[in-house]
Amino acid sequence: MKKIFIAAIALPFITWLCYVSLFAAAAASIVNQIPDPARGAYQAWLNDVPQETYTDHEGTSGEPYSGGSIPKDGYTGPVSFACILPPQYGYLTDTYGTYRGGNYVHSGIDFGCYGREDLPVYTPYGGKVVFAGWSRVGYGNLVVIENNGVQVYLAHNSELWVAPGDIVTAGTPIGRCGSTGNSTGPHVHFEVRLWNEREERWKPVDPNAIWLPGQSADCSWYHLKEELP
Ligand SMILES: [Zn+2]
Repeated sequence: MKKIFIAAIALPFITWLCYVSLFAAAAASIVNQIPDPARGAYQAWLNDVPQETYTDHEGTSGEPYSGGSIPKDGYTGPVSFACILPPQYGYLTDTYGTYRGGNYVHSGIDFGCYGREDLPVYTPYGGKVVFAGWSRVGYGNLVVIENNGVQVYLAHNSELWVAPGDIVTAGTPIGRCGSTGNSTGPHVHFEVRLWNEREERWKPVDPNAIWLPGQSADCSWYHLKEELP
């Protein structure tokens, strides 16, 4: 009876305990090597904790976040697109459509820049800067660029290098990667909104499900997902 107990219960339990302890020790040892200011953000990334939350959500349950809309400017200038991807931004930490508490899903793509906070944020899409300033709904220092019925959001910057009314071409550095607003760690939140004529409002779309004007087929927002700096 005693032998059966050891074989059937005690041994598997001891093995499980060993694995759990080893895993915890390994995870902890990695976290301790991360520089202090980046540690919390790294843990959040490791544990898949969303990098931001927004307030003033508009729309129905399950929709992408669409609060804090910037009014339509109507600017239509020359098409200007540059394939700016990770690692130029940082590296990919969250995709479009992931669940975001409350009643909405992530409205953009996040590119982390932990330990690389000096990284400039380049706009992949050129147009008119229709917003550059502090967002009241959680985007932090936000830049919104509009052109040909498309708005591009670049959020959570630590510094802003453009002003409303500026005309920028693709590849222009618009600010510095940061963690301003409702953000858990330094990253770029990249969002694309299309003007919906029927509803007369900007609606976020999966940037990977559409082609921005000028974007070529070999430039996918997710294709460098595995490439870390
Ligand atoms: Zn985001």
